[in-house]
This record gives sequence, C-alpha cells and structure tokens, in this order.
Amino acid sequence: MAATRKQTLRDRDVKGKRALVRADFNVPLDGQRVLDDTRVRATVPTIRYLLDAGASVVLMSHLGRPRGKVVPGLSLRPVAGLLSRLLGQEVQFVPGCTGETALAATSSLRPGGVALLENVRFHPGDEGNDPDMARELAGHGEIYVNDAFGAAHRAHASTSGVAAYLPAVAGLLMEAELQAFGRLLESPDSPFMVILGGAKVSDKLGIISSLLMRCDVLALGGGMANTFLACSGHDLGRSLVERELIPRAADLLAVAAGRGVEVILPSDLVVSSKMDGSVPAATVSVEAVPPGLAAYDIGGESASRIEAAVSRAATVFWNGTMGVYETPAFAGGTRAVIAAMAQAASGGAIAVAAGGDSLAAVRDSGLGHAFTHLSTGGGAALELLEGRPLPGVECLLDKEDQRE
Ligand code: ADP
Ligand code: MG
Repeated sequence: MAATRKQTLRDRDVKGKRALVRADFNVPLDGQRVLDDTRVRATVPTIRYLLDAGASVVLMSHLGRPRGKVVPGLSLRPVAGLLSRLLGQEVQFVPGCTGETALAATSSLRPGGVALLENVRFHPGDEGNDPDMARELAGHGEIYVNDAFGAAHRAHASTSGVAAYLPAVAGLLMEAELQAFGRLLESPDSPFMVILGGAKVSDKLGIISSLLMRCDVLALGGGMANTFLACSGHDLGRSLVERELIPRAADLLAVAAGRGVEVILPSDLVVSSKMDGSVPAATVSVEAVPPGLAAYDIGGESASRIEAAVSRAATVFWNGTMGVYETPAFAGGTRAVIAAMAQAASGGAIAVAAGGDSLAAVRDSGLGHAFTHLSTGGGAALELLEGRPLPGVECLLDKEDQRE
C-alpha cells in the first residue's frame, strides 16, 4: 500500500531549490489569534529540514470554508506571525497565491527564506482541482512537498493537482503518519486490539469492516455500541440506536465471530435523562436501561474489561470517544481508555489514536506524550484505515521513480 512506497523529502536533493510545501494550517482562529497551534507546530520539522538542506520554503494551505471567495476573516496572515515566532525567523506573508505579484514574491526568496501564501480556497480552482490553478501554484517551487496529511483525502489543486507539474514527495509529518498507519494495516504486532466509539455506526461502518479483518480484539463503545447491543434484543430506552443499521451491525458481529475476533461490547452503561450533566446519572446493566433514560457513557465494568484487554495487547488503535466526553459525568469511559493505552505504550506496546474528538480528549488528559502516534488527520486517517487510496498520497512519486 501507499504508506511505505512513497518518496519523502529525504530522497531528494533540495539544495538551492524552492520547496512548495502543502501544509494543513486549518487552525481555529479568534480574530487575529490562533487558538490551537498544534497543526502549525506539526509542520515545523519539515520546514526546518528543508531550510537546513539549503532550500527556501513556500508554504500553502487552506483555512476554513471560504468556498472560492475572499473572506478576510479566513486569511492565513495570523499563521505567518505564529510561524515566525515558532521558527525564530521572518515568514513573509504573500497576500495571494496565484498571479504575477505572488509569483514575484516567491521568486525572489533566497535559500533559507520562508514565505506563506494566502488561503488557497479563496479561489474556486483549489477545491475544483482546476489544472490552471495547479499549474500556477506549481510556479512557486521546483519541488512539491505534501505535509498536509489532514487534507490528503481531498483531490484539490493544492493537495494533488500540483503534483502533475513538479516532482512530488512526502514531508516528515506525512511520512510519520503513513508509517504509523502502514504498520497498523500491514504488520501490526499481535494481539492487535481496535477500540472504536463515537456517536453513530453510520460514520464508522467502513473502518469497522476494514479493521475487523486485521484485528484480534475489537472493543466498541460510545453511542455507536448501542446499535450493536440492540442486535441481541436489548431495549436501550431513549439511547441513540440506528434501527435501520441493526442488520448491518449483526452482519459485522457474524464476520467477527467467523474470524475468531474477540468482540467486547459494553455490559453496563451510564444513563441519564439529559446529555448535559444537569441531571444526576446512574450506572445500570445493559439489560436494565430504564425506558425514559439514555446511555451517554460506558459503565465502570465495561471500562475495566477494555482496560484488561488493552494491557494484554501489543498494538492498540483507538478512534471515537466511549461517551459524551464533553460532559465530565460522561467522560469516564474515554478517560479509562486513554489511561490504559498510555500505560500499555509505556510498557512497550504500540498505541495509536486518531480523530478530532478523541485527540481533544487525549490533550485534556495530559497523557498524549506516552502514545506512539497521535494522528493529525481525522477524515484522512479514517479513509486510510478503511483501505481507500488518498489522492494527496497517490500523487507522490514512488520510491523507485527517478524523475527529476
Ligand atoms: P472522533 O472525532 O475522534 O472521530 P467521533 O466524532 O466519532 O470521534 O465521536 C465523538 C462524538 O461522539 C462526541 O461528540 C461525543 O459526544 C459523541 N458520543 C459518544 N458517545 C455518545 C453517546 N452515547 N450518545 C451520544 N453521543 C455520543
Ligand atoms: Mg468527531
């Protein structure tokens, strides 16, 4: 698969070249302030590597959903300021990404210089993967480095179109993501345990069926687990259950049984009449959910069974919270998973987590440093694990390709 056969910037001589780097700087903004700099920090190693190797760096990214129009509130200018501070050198902000003025700015960059182009999605040609837009973007560099794993599932001018005009390789962040997922998909140390949660089964059908074929243990939690519990006839009160997906869930359980995968479904649930924690919650067995109440977290017994399985696993992958973790009363299951994975990783196991909400929970826990890999790509990570090719990866040169 794509993960390990693609060239990275290590495979290329970039001395004296302008490297056009697609980054994922899609950060939350409060006016001019970047509220979370995780994604910007994640690209710093690639930028430093290129500068140390004698290149200049032209960065491009999208931010938000301007839908092909200039939206001043979605300008990347604040990111240039943040990046200057992180790199300890000037980052020139270029107020456009196509046209003569932008090209003149990046053409005059000296080795060691860094410039950031304006939001590529201010042009409809980016999301439209317009060849003219891709060619204009390609004019900013002599090599294309894709470090935007979080946008790699999109076939846009700045993520894959541009690769038609320049030699295209993976950046260091992209390389780390592809290696971590390549290992999970191709050669996970066993026992390989997969923990999946989140609100709905409909979001996770692809990833469940893909990982079911690769794992030894599958633990399900979150709202999604309710539909699987409903397969065995449990009445879950007012809990979120996707009735139309019960047959599909039953099929997946049958496949798991056929492959000898150990499936861990919740045996107890934290229930309440309100999702916001304003009404006291109770823990009940899955057989005894009161009619008027809904499940918002897995119970302590379920969490203990997952913890025990994690402690026996050599590889653990997790996506999707075990409950409505945004409300402290329903965060216990998710916290237990994170603590168990951090502990397993400290003991030498491979522990990988992906997903926006899941990573937010890891950050809150302060245990992120113990994990083997925390993916920066939500949708892209899930599509990769579903076994789907990612356009932003497929467009990169293969290892054996000598093209200049
Ligand atoms: P990620 O963003 O990590 O991929 P998901 O978006 O799939 O994770 O799942 C997290 C979301 O699922 C959270 O917003 C959480 O509140 C919701 N959720 C989890 N369990 C339940 C539940 N039992 N009922 C309703 N929502 C739930
Ligand atoms: Mg989410």
